[in-house]
Amino acid sequence: MKAVAVLPGQPNSVHLRDVSAPTLDSQPHPHVCRVPEGRGVLVQSLQIGVDATDREINEALYGNAPPGDDYLVIGHESFGRVLAVGNRVTEVRPGDYVSCTVRRPGKSIHDLIGRNDVTGDETYYERGINLCHGYMTERFVDDAEYVVRVPQGLRHIGVLAEPASVCAKAIEQAYLAQSRLQVWHPRVAFVLGAGQIGLLATMMLRLRGLAVYTLATTPAPHLKAEIANAYGSTYVSTKQTSMADLVRKVGRPDLIFEATGNAEVCFRAMEVLAINGALIWTSITGGSHDVSLDGAKVNLEWVLGNKLLVGSVNGNRRHFELGIQALSHGELTYPGVTQRILTHPVRGLDNYKQMMGLLEEKKALKVFVNIAD
Ligand code: BGC
Ligand code: ZN
Repeated sequence: MKAVAVLPGQPNSVHLRDVSAPTLDSQPHPHVCRVPEGRGVLVQSLQIGVDATDREINEALYGNAPPGDDYLVIGHESFGRVLAVGNRVTEVRPGDYVSCTVRRPGKSIHDLIGRNDVTGDETYYERGINLCHGYMTERFVDDAEYVVRVPQGLRHIGVLAEPASVCAKAIEQAYLAQSRLQVWHPRVAFVLGAGQIGLLATMMLRLRGLAVYTLATTPAPHLKAEIANAYGSTYVSTKQTSMADLVRKVGRPDLIFEATGNAEVCFRAMEVLAINGALIWTSITGGSHDVSLDGAKVNLEWVLGNKLLVGSVNGNRRHFELGIQALSHGELTYPGVTQRILTHPVRGLDNYKQMMGLLEEKKALKVFVNIAD
């Protein structure tokens, strides 16, 4: 069967290759963990999404092949239909729509208790990213433990399950950490960045009832602003209104969700957070980037204001479930809005070059491959 892969360490090595099709009894990553007897789920890929991580993997900035292979099948944002299940699988049935989690357990205590998303190990195993093949194939198999059902009614946005899991986890982490305050009722949130993560976070914070301002550079009108506004947020172009000006207008944000991929913005966010506020960092900033800021002032305000910074990455099974619930709730609350994120479909794995090219396009909110109907 067809698969899209890279040769880790070699820039621009993305290619189509033939790999053997998995069966219900295959072991997709025996060097990490084994699918227990009867617990396999065989899935037909319907749509697989790509993001900046895939671009960085193709630029050889990131990613490793599984031991024994010189290639890595990419794709960590999965959506498919169950073809067959082992005799000990009760969670899903053939015909169900599913997504599959990304990370597989290492050896730390958190891996052992099902929290591989907060592994204590230096090395982490992620399908399509690090040391495990991904989902950019016609079929894949995995342990039912990592397969998450997507409702039939979300068929049209199921490919957003993985990015939604990342947002749902990050927001939940902030709320969990803020329980340190005993009472925390955030009212104003800034979402920095209006890519897929920024927009999904915008939706989830609106669902929680916050007044949300979604900030990005490009002045409206454009699709990202329309989507943010359709979720009931206010889109703000930082070319027209700086973050400081916005604060003068609407006050300091109690919660900031940072998703720009820009290290400068990550730190500038520290200068505006409200007393008792929480700043969430989700950007994965490759390379190096110096930032200068008034450290004494930030430190003073953060100490006197009991402020919190939380970094968050990856989602485990429960975060996928939370993300999918948020997508469902969002679809009922803001009908037809989320699907507007799905801007750039690519037809079939054969068009992998077009897929990678689209990742360079600033306007492409979501690039994904339609593999089967
Ligand atoms: C993925 C996460 C992953 C992270 C680091 C992101 O693109 O969505 O699941 O943990 O990259 O590899
Ligand atoms: Zn990703």
